[in-house]
Formats: sequence, C-alpha cells, structure tokens
Amino acid sequence: MTTTADYYEVLGVTKTASGDEIKKAYRKLAMQYHPDRNQGNKDAETKFKEINEAYEVLKDDQKRAAYDRYGHQAFTSGMGGAGANPFNGFDFTGAGFADVFSDIFSEFTGQGRSRQRSYAERGDDIRYDIALTLEEAYVGLEKEINITTSKECDACHGHGTADGKEPPVCATCGGTGRVRTQQGGFFVFETTCPQCRGTGRAVTDKCKKCRGTGKEKLEKSLKIKIPAGIENGTRMRVAGEGEVGKRGGPKGDLYVFITVKRHKTYERDGADLFTVSPISMSMAAMGGQFKLKGIDGEEINVEVKPGTQPSDKLRIKGKGMRYMNSDKRGDLFVEFKVVIPTKLTDAQKECLKQFDAAAPEEEKSFWNKLFG
Ligand SMILES: [Zn+2]
Ligand SMILES: [Zn+2]
Repeated sequence: MTTTADYYEVLGVTKTASGDEIKKAYRKLAMQYHPDRNQGNKDAETKFKEINEAYEVLKDDQKRAAYDRYGHQAFTSGMGGAGANPFNGFDFTGAGFADVFSDIFSEFTGQGRSRQRSYAERGDDIRYDIALTLEEAYVGLEKEINITTSKECDACHGHGTADGKEPPVCATCGGTGRVRTQQGGFFVFETTCPQCRGTGRAVTDKCKKCRGTGKEKLEKSLKIKIPAGIENGTRMRVAGEGEVGKRGGPKGDLYVFITVKRHKTYERDGADLFTVSPISMSMAAMGGQFKLKGIDGEEINVEVKPGTQPSDKLRIKGKGMRYMNSDKRGDLFVEFKVVIPTKLTDAQKECLKQFDAAAPEEEKSFWNKLFG
C-alpha cells in the first residue's frame, strides 16, 4: 500500500459521492483495468491496485471518515512500524478484497460461482477519542475509559431468532444474500436479496429482546495505557474490544484516537520542543540568564550570551519530549525575542544618551558615516 494519490481522484468521484456512486465508479474502473483484460500491462496492474486500495478505504464509512480527516496518514502507523501491537494503525489485510473481487469476476464473466454467504460476521470497530495535554503526552498515562459497545444477546445467543436457534438458509437466494437477473445476454446484474436483505438467512420470528439484531448494548470500562512521548494524531488499536461479532463472528477492534492539545509555551516537532522567550535589550547586550519551566516540570536555566542578536536560538539538549518506547529525549530550542521598548521614561532616555556617548570612537564614526 504505497499509493499516495488522492483516493477520490483515483476513483474519479467527488468527495461527497455516495456509497453507490463509489461502488459504480470502482466497478467500472476495475473491469477496465482488470489483469485478465490487460495481460502483461504493468501500468494497468498498478492502476488496478490503486483503485482497489482506494475502494477499500472509501467503501467503508469508518475508514472513509478517517481518510477525510487525516488523509493517507490515517492508514500508516505513526508508531514506529509494524509489530508494535496494540499500538499500530489500521491494518489492511484486504479482507474485503476477495469478496469484491469475486463479485467483479462474476459480473465480468457473466456467470460466477454461487457462494453461500458466511453466516458469521466480524463485529464493527469502534472509536474513542482522547485529548491530552503536552505534559500528559510527555509522561504518558493510564486512563480508564468508558465505552459503549455490544455483546451477544443472551436471549437468542446472537442468532436474532425468537427460538434462539440458527435460522434456516433463505430459500429465495439460497443463502448467497444476492439475487441475479440477466439482461441483454452478457451481463448479469446482482442485487441484494429482498427476502433476507442480504443476510442469506430466513428469520421468521425475531428475538423480542434484541429485535433480531442478535446483540445488545454493553457499557464497559477499560484501562488504556498511553505511552510516554505519544504524538498528536496517533491511533491505538486495542484488538477485540470492538462490537461483538454477528452470529458468532469475531469481535471488532477499538481504535483510540489521540489528540495532543496545543501548549501555551511549547510547540512540538517530533521529540523536539520550540519556544520564543522575550529578553530585554540590555540582557541581549550584556548577557544574563532566566528560568523556564520545562515540560517535565523542572526548572531550566537559560543562559543568554553577551551580544545575543534578535532571533538567535539556543539549543538545550535533552530537554524536549520523550521518544516513544525509549528513555531518550529530544532537544529544546529557545528563540530570543529582543524587546525594544516603545515608551521610555526621561531617566531611561538619559541613560541611553549616556550609553551612546560612552561608545568607543570607532563605533561613533561608524554611525556618523551612516547618518551624518
Ligand atoms: Zn436476541
Ligand atoms: Zn435471501
């Protein structure tokens, strides 16, 4: 998954396109660039991969929302690569691919094999947002969160039936959840089975408790460990804490989206911190020192060298944010803003006149040359 082209552009749809429009656009392109039609054509192969990748994201409301909000970054791990479970980003194993592919294939050839729809379905993923201060992001924290998820309805054991038993296969579609109509010889159009609404099963009496959904609401509290040094925009995946699977399918995952709030003193870039500190003219000229409160709460002594110029920067090593999963810290950069007074008292004016008068001869002649 290395495409960086805009997914909407790849499919040639607008950002407000409906799910159906996206699906239509995808099918058209997928048939055009299908490897069977473009044998040995590398460009077509790349294009085919691109459109599949784009469709994988845009067909899924949750992934699409994440993409709209975060762009491609939504699907790359910002947490130091793979294997950092449970702190990795979305992973695309292409679970939907085979499905779509065989759909396409059956339309493409006009026949396709009849598949009985899998009865079990994976539960939905859920999302939880946490906003942290920069100080909290520095130390990391353990937080108890309350999520609303779902569990299997105990009255029907998740089947959604009044008798709590697995419902029989739908007679209309034979369990595929799809019905086909042939038009004009070559193309076979598939639509969702109207009888079972695509589930492939015939439920005559619905479970009263869950109204046939097979699940019930579950409020749950969970402890989430947020590692020190976490970055703004990180998504943490907590496997198996999403909604219950349908009809015995696996649970979905919980995605915790981390936002790190802006800090009033420090700007962050990775593990480095930046700040602007005002200093007086005289401190800039003569040097001096002042104290800053570090992100770890400790006082930092900032040394101002004599002759400091406006916008000069000082790098203080090891006083930045923590790197994730490491004791190392980034650096702190202090930019000096030399404040030129806009109002002077008579006494100050007198001092400054004396300051000018006391300047060495060569400095005076320099200024006289410029302005005299
Ligand atoms: Zn039920
Ligand atoms: Zn059916």
